[in-house]
Amino acid sequence: MQAALTGHLVLSTFHTNDALGTIPRLLDLNLDASVLADALIGVVSQRLVRCLCEVCRQPPWLAVEEEFQRITGELPAYRPVGCEQCGYTGYHGRLPIIEYVEMTAGLRQALLNGGRSLATLKEAVVGHRRSMAASAKAWIVSGMTTPQEVQQVLGVKFWAELAEEHGKPAGLLNFDVGSNNQADRRMKVLLLSTDAELAARLGAALTYGVARVDDEKAAVAYIEQHGDVIALVLDSGLCAGPFEDWMLGLRTALASSGLPGLFVLREGTQAFQTLLDNYGGQHIGIEEVPTDALAAAVNRLLQGIH
Ligand SMILES: [Zn+2]
Repeated sequence: MQAALTGHLVLSTFHTNDALGTIPRLLDLNLDASVLADALIGVVSQRLVRCLCEVCRQPPWLAVEEEFQRITGELPAYRPVGCEQCGYTGYHGRLPIIEYVEMTAGLRQALLNGGRSLATLKEAVVGHRRSMAASAKAWIVSGMTTPQEVQQVLGVKFWAELAEEHGKPAGLLNFDVGSNNQADRRMKVLLLSTDAELAARLGAALTYGVARVDDEKAAVAYIEQHGDVIALVLDSGLCAGPFEDWMLGLRTALASSGLPGLFVLREGTQAFQTLLDNYGGQHIGIEEVPTDALAAAVNRLLQGIH
């Protein structure tokens, strides 16, 4: 920041959920807001998605493509097929989807006024920010890649962001984007629990597939391997120590996935419930599994994601 203030162009990297999230993270490091307002020019974030193979791509017709059209009013130009040229993947090469935020007079003023919440910052950069979803949408409509591929890379938050930008309600996302798991090609709710019976009960209550992992480390590995997770269900039975520590561990491991989470509370977790209520965390009692209440809670979760 000192080098930047003296007029040097400084490029640096930072780990956050999205470009705008860099600003509160820098402020968290006790950087002075007025220094940041002067020194920062902008933030760019980039992910790579596969390009459609131009030899074998075909016009779209899948449910996932209809969902894209419902939200944006435009149809993806092509869908992947697979041929000898592309090794039967339907894709060939990669291209970047890019999110950016520019420093503006409005953002500078918001920072000087002490603004640091994402909502405040977002309002200050209207017209000077481009989301991942908007960047991906442009590539999809021009036939360079597909909604399926973008979802594999960005996760289900792609749909929430796209819906938000177009002022449409988020959909239920119960379509198949082609997971690696041939046995069950439905979108998955990922259960973090050692209780296999709970997984079975959950499976019976939901129209989505259910995958179970033992802990957050396995959850991260699962999410990286499969592009089909739409939500997390977290069993409070996994918590061995103080709830705050468990929550912090979960947040550290899983926040970057951008997936919405629902806690299943076991008996004797009143203190945890209070903690969740304070943070606006969604939860449901284990006695309500597998009633319709659980399916309704998961659907509410998916409708409300931003
Ligand atoms: Zn091909």
